[in-house]
Amino acid sequence: MKSSNGNGSGSHFLVDAALGFTIPKRHARGRLVRLGPVLDEILANHNYPPLIERVLAEALLLAALLGTTLKNAEGQLTIQAQTEGGVIDLLVCDYRNGELRGYLRHDPERLAEAPADPSLFALFGKGYLAITFDQALTGERYQGIVPLEGGSLAEAAENYFSQSEQIPSLVRLAIQPAKDKGHIAAGLLVQHLPEGEEGRDRIHTRLDHPEWEHVHTLAATVKREELLDTSLPLEALLWRLFNEEEEIRATPSSSFVKGCRCNLDHIRAVIAKFPEEERQQMVGEDGLIKVDCAYCALSFGIDPGTI
Ligand SMILES: [Zn+2]
Repeated sequence: MKSSNGNGSGSHFLVDAALGFTIPKRHARGRLVRLGPVLDEILANHNYPPLIERVLAEALLLAALLGTTLKNAEGQLTIQAQTEGGVIDLLVCDYRNGELRGYLRHDPERLAEAPADPSLFALFGKGYLAITFDQALTGERYQGIVPLEGGSLAEAAENYFSQSEQIPSLVRLAIQPAKDKGHIAAGLLVQHLPEGEEGRDRIHTRLDHPEWEHVHTLAATVKREELLDTSLPLEALLWRLFNEEEEIRATPSSSFVKGCRCNLDHIRAVIAKFPEEERQQMVGEDGLIKVDCAYCALSFGIDPGTI
C-alpha cells in the first residue's frame, strides 16, 4: 500500500518527506525529514494521551531519519527502548522501504503523577536504547545498545552514535502537537561519514576533526520553527543552513507511509509454522485463533480451518 501526500498540489513533498544530503569536502552526510499525515495515521490507532503521543512521534521521526540512511530499500531499521520502573516501559518502532510503524506501552496511573513537561528520565526511568540496522540484501545486521540517557530522545540518539558507533552526530527533533491541523514532526540528522565510505580512519573524537566542528556549528543553528515550517521546502532549509559550503549534494525526496505486515495472509503463514498440536492450543472458545498486532492495536480472529 502506497499513498502520497500533496502530490500534484503546491505542497508537493513538504510533509511525509525526506531529503538526503552530503557535504563532500567536510566528509559529512545528513537527512532532513518532515512528517505529517503519516504520523496522525499511526497515532490514530492507539489513542494515547498527548504526552505519550509526542514520545512515539519523536521515536518515529528518529526511525525515519535513521532508516533513510540504509543503503538498500528492503533494509530495516528498528528502534527499541526498554526500561524498568518507567512510565513507559517499552517502545518499539521501525522503518522499512518508506513504511513506518510503532507502538509503546505505558502506565496511565504513573503518567498522571509525572511532571507536566517530563524529562526523558522521568518517562523512561532506567533503561536502554537499542538500534538495529538490517541491510537486507547483504544480510548484514548491526545492533548497538546503549543506556537510555540524556534530556531527550535526540540526545539519547547522539549518545548512541558516539558510544556505539563512534560516529559524531547531531540530532534535532521537533514536534508540533495536533491542534486542528494534525501533528507535524521534523528533524535533522548530520553525521561525520563513517569508516569505509571515504576510505578514512575511524573517527573517534570530534576535537580531532575541525571540519566536523564546522559542520556541527552550522547544523546547530537550525531553529525549531524552521524545521516545523511546512511552507519551507526541505531543500530551502538545507541551503539556508549550509550555503557557505562549496558543495552540497542533495538526493531526491523519498516519502513515508504507515505500513505494517499484519495482513491475514501473513498472519496465516506465521501460524502455519507452528506444529499442529500447538495450533490446537491457540484456538479460543469462539473457535478462532486470536492474533494481536501491537503496532496497529488490532486484533485478528483466524479460523484454523483456513490455515
Ligand atoms: Zn499491524
